[in-house]
Amino acid sequence: MFDLTGKVALITGASRGIGKGIALAFAKQGADIVINYLHHTEEASRVVEEIRSLGRNADMFMGDVADENNVKEMFAFVKKEFGRLDILVNNAGISQAKDIFEMSLADWERVMNINLTTAFLCSKYAMEMMKEQNSGRIISLASQAGQREALFGHVHYAASKSGILAMNKTLARTGAPHNITVNSIAPGVIFTDFTKAVHTDEEVEELRNSIPLGLGKVEDVAAAAVYLASDEARYVTGATIDVNGGSYIH
Ligand code: NAP
Repeated sequence: MFDLTGKVALITGASRGIGKGIALAFAKQGADIVINYLHHTEEASRVVEEIRSLGRNADMFMGDVADENNVKEMFAFVKKEFGRLDILVNNAGISQAKDIFEMSLADWERVMNINLTTAFLCSKYAMEMMKEQNSGRIISLASQAGQREALFGHVHYAASKSGILAMNKTLARTGAPHNITVNSIAPGVIFTDFTKAVHTDEEVEELRNSIPLGLGKVEDVAAAAVYLASDEARYVTGATIDVNGGSYIH
């Protein structure tokens, strides 16, 4: 079950955190992997080495995926080096510990660009390749913040993740005639560098104590991504899998 042998996956923002966890989980299921990242070259190289040590083909592409030129180059790289693309994971994302009173227009635009525009651009180029292949899987990292509210006022983050959910429902309909499924994962609080950058220690403690199953791990999110990428999920599209430990039950 959930065998990904022979599939090629591209994961944005996979030098660290959830993206890295998804890359390794896909490789363990047999997929070849291209990881994208922006700043952490050493970490990205280590992820590539770890995937290769599992006997899989892997490579990396550095570039800001909010910039269309980089996205174009990245998809040309995937096509040239791997010949096809079966799975895209839109994972790259950021937030900032600011509420609307502290937030500038530049802050708003930065978060919207990196969280939502990246997913639009990568989905666009991926769907062009997948349409030619008449098959594909797109999986995007949303957040419970896009389903409810961002608990500490991060309004740009909540809006960008709501945007992912709405975009994917529409793309699911567009992709279906071409055998392309489009789904979202809505994590709750997963302990990564992101959590540390966006929340104070006190906030993390408050979250840990308020979530029925406590804080999540990257492996919890990766397992949902493996399922959505697999042949077994062929009839699932336009859906969102909550991986939130019961923090938002709806
Ligand atoms: P993370 O640990 O901060 O990692 C973010 C990754 O994104 C890094 O690999 C980073 O690359 C990359 N990245 C950032 N901006 C980029 C850009 N413009 N172009 C290319 N790569 C870029 O974050 P995470 O916790 O793993 O979160 C991953 C995703 O899950 C995000 O979309 C986030 O919103 C979502 N999510 C996370 C949580 C959570 O609690 N952690 C909850 C809900 C949703 P470099 O470091 O190399 O620059």
